[in-house]
Amino acid sequence: MGQIVVLDQNMVNMIAAGEVIERPASVVKELMENSIDAGATKITVSIEDGGRKLISVADNGCGMDGEDLGRAFESHTTSKIKTSSDLHGISTLGFRGEALASIASVAQVKGTSRTRGQDGANCIEIDCGNKGSISPCSADYGTTIQVRDIFYKLPARRKFLRTTNTEMGHIAEQFTRIALANTPASNKQGLDLTLLHNGRELYRLSDKDNLHRRIAELFPIPSSGISENLIETESNEKGLHILALMGKPSISRTSRKFQYIFLNGRFIRDKFISHAIKEAYRGLLEPNRFPVVFLFIRMPYEDYDVNVHPTKSEVRFYNANLVHSQILATLREKLLSTDLQMQAQLPSPANFPGSQGSPPTGHRSQAIADAMAEFFKKHRPVQTQEQFSYKSKQHLVALHPPTGQIPESHTGPATASALRATTDSAETSPPVPEIRSEERKFLQIHDSFIVVQTDDGFDIIDQHALHERIMYEHLFRRIRKSKLESQKLLIPESFEVTPSGADALKTNAELLEKLGIELVPFGPKTMAIQAFPTLLSKADPLDFVQDLIDLLDRKDVNLDGERLLDEVLNMAACKAAIKAGQRLTMSEIEQLLWDKENAESASRCPHGRPTTIKFSISDLEKQFKRT
Ligand code: ADP
Ligand code: MG
Repeated sequence: MGQIVVLDQNMVNMIAAGEVIERPASVVKELMENSIDAGATKITVSIEDGGRKLISVADNGCGMDGEDLGRAFESHTTSKIKTSSDLHGISTLGFRGEALASIASVAQVKGTSRTRGQDGANCIEIDCGNKGSISPCSADYGTTIQVRDIFYKLPARRKFLRTTNTEMGHIAEQFTRIALANTPASNKQGLDLTLLHNGRELYRLSDKDNLHRRIAELFPIPSSGISENLIETESNEKGLHILALMGKPSISRTSRKFQYIFLNGRFIRDKFISHAIKEAYRGLLEPNRFPVVFLFIRMPYEDYDVNVHPTKSEVRFYNANLVHSQILATLREKLLSTDLQMQAQLPSPANFPGSQGSPPTGHRSQAIADAMAEFFKKHRPVQTQEQFSYKSKQHLVALHPPTGQIPESHTGPATASALRATTDSAETSPPVPEIRSEERKFLQIHDSFIVVQTDDGFDIIDQHALHERIMYEHLFRRIRKSKLESQKLLIPESFEVTPSGADALKTNAELLEKLGIELVPFGPKTMAIQAFPTLLSKADPLDFVQDLIDLLDRKDVNLDGERLLDEVLNMAACKAAIKAGQRLTMSEIEQLLWDKENAESASRCPHGRPTTIKFSISDLEKQFKRT
C-alpha cells in the first residue's frame, strides 16, 4: 500500500505558519500590514505579556462583510490578486493569502469587522484551525483581530519564545518599521499609530508627523540624538525616487540595525543596497562601523519581484545595478558636499563631578581644564609609526631610511618645501598667500594638534589625520590622471622576498607601475627598489614596499582593483603624512590649513577618523557663565 497521504488543510496551514509566523512580532507585522492594505489611517496595537497572552490589532480600514470575514481565515484567500498577471506589479503589502490562515492555525483568534455599508459588525472565532460560525456583534467601522495564547497547542514552538522583554523588543521593531514607512513624507498618507503593552502606552504617533518628527519619537536616545544628526537628500532619476536621511559619521553604530530601507512602503533587506550605503560612507567611517540611514525608495512595482521570500523582506530587482549606482551616487554626493566636522561636546554643568546644581566658578574652570585634558588624552593619535622628519626631495636621493627616531630640526626651508610638495605642483594648486605674523590665529600644541581660531570659535586639528587626508586625495587625483612621478634611488635598496610575495608583485605589476615603484631582481630571493614615488618622499621606501607586498599578498581578502588601489593609497598617505609629535613651522601650518580649505572632504582621515573638532565660542561662554 502506498505511503503517501494528502495532509489535511489544518496541517497545511500549520506548516505554512512555520514559515511566516516565527514569533508574536511576525503576527504584529502581518496584521498591521493587512490594516495598511485596508486603507486604515489609524491602527492600535495592544500587547499583553510580550504577545504570549494577547496580540490585538484594531484598525479603521475598509473592513470586511460577513462573507469575507468567514473566508479571510481560509488558506490561499486574498482580495489582493486574482490572476497570475497581477503578480507582475504588486502594490499591496500582502498578496499570498496565507497570513490569517496561518495565524488562526496556531492560536485562538477572534476577528471582528464592519464595512462602511453595514449597520452592524460581524465576528468569528477560530481556535487552532477550528472555525466557529459568523455572528453579529457591535463594533465600529474597521477590523480588529485578537490573537490569544499563541502556539498553545505547539509546546515545542512556545518553548522557543524568549522573555517578555525580548519579544516586546521584536514587536517594537516591527512597529517602528511600519511607522517609518507611513508618514506623509515617506508614503502617500500619514498614519496614526499606538502601541500598548499591558495597558501602558509605549508609542502614540500622530498621522501629522513628518519623517523627522517620527524618527525623533521612535528613537528618543537622549545623548546621541539621531534625529538632530541626519542629513537629508533626495533624487529622482531613471525611474527611481530616492529620499535618504543619513546619519552623520559621529552617530555611526556597530551593526546594520539602524539601516532602515523601504521600497514603496515595504521594509526590505537587500545586499546590493547595503553595499551601496557602505560604499557611500567609504573613508568617512572607521572599518566595522555602520552608518545610521533611513532610505526610502520609490520605483514602479513592475521593476522588482516581491514573490521571492515568505515574509517578503527580500525582493529581486530586475536592474540591481541601476538601483545600486543611483543610491550610491545620491548618498555619496551629498556626504561629500556636507561639512561633517565634529562639534565638540563640552560637559554640561550637571555632569561635573561632585557638583550639585550650579558649581562655583572656580570649580567650573577646573572642570573645563579637566575636560580639555581628558579630551587631549583621548584624541591623541597612537604613535605607532616611526617619527620621520621631513625630507626634501634631495634628501630622499641622498638618504637611506632614517636611522634614528629623533626628528631633525624643522627650521630649514627644506621642511616647508616638502610639505608643499604634497600639494599638487603639476596641477593648478594656488600658492599659499603669505600671512603676516600679527594675522596668525593658530598655534601648534604638543607638537600634534593645531588650534585655529574660526569665525565662531576655534577648531582643533589632528595634524597627522588631516595631512593624511590631504595626501590621500592628492595621490588619488594624481593616479587617476596618470602614473605617479618617481625618482631613482642613488643606492638601490634590496630586500628579501618570499615566492608568494614575488608572485603578488608579478600579478600587480601594473599597479606598481602606476605607483612609480621600480623593482628589479637582485639575486635568487632578493629584489631591489630602484625608483620610488617622489610624492612619498617622506616614507621609507623599504618599509613601504614591504607593507605593500603584505597587502598584495593577503590571501584572506579578495579586493577588486579599485578597492586595492584605495587601500594602497590609504597606506601611502598614512606613511607619507606628518606624524604626531612633529613640530611644524609657521609656514608648514599655513600650508596645511590652506590645503584643508581646498580638500574635498577634509573632516575625516581616510580611515574615517575625524581630523577636526570644532568648539564654538557660545558654548564656551555658557561654560564660563558669560551668558
Ligand atoms: P493577504 O494579505 O496576503 O491577502 P491575509 O491572510 O493576510 O492575506 O488576509 C486575507 C484577506 O483578508 C485579505 O486579502 C483581505 O481581503 C482581508 N483582510 C485581512 N485583514 C484585513 C483588515 N484588517 N481589513 C480588511 N480586510 C482584511
Ligand atoms: Mg496579509
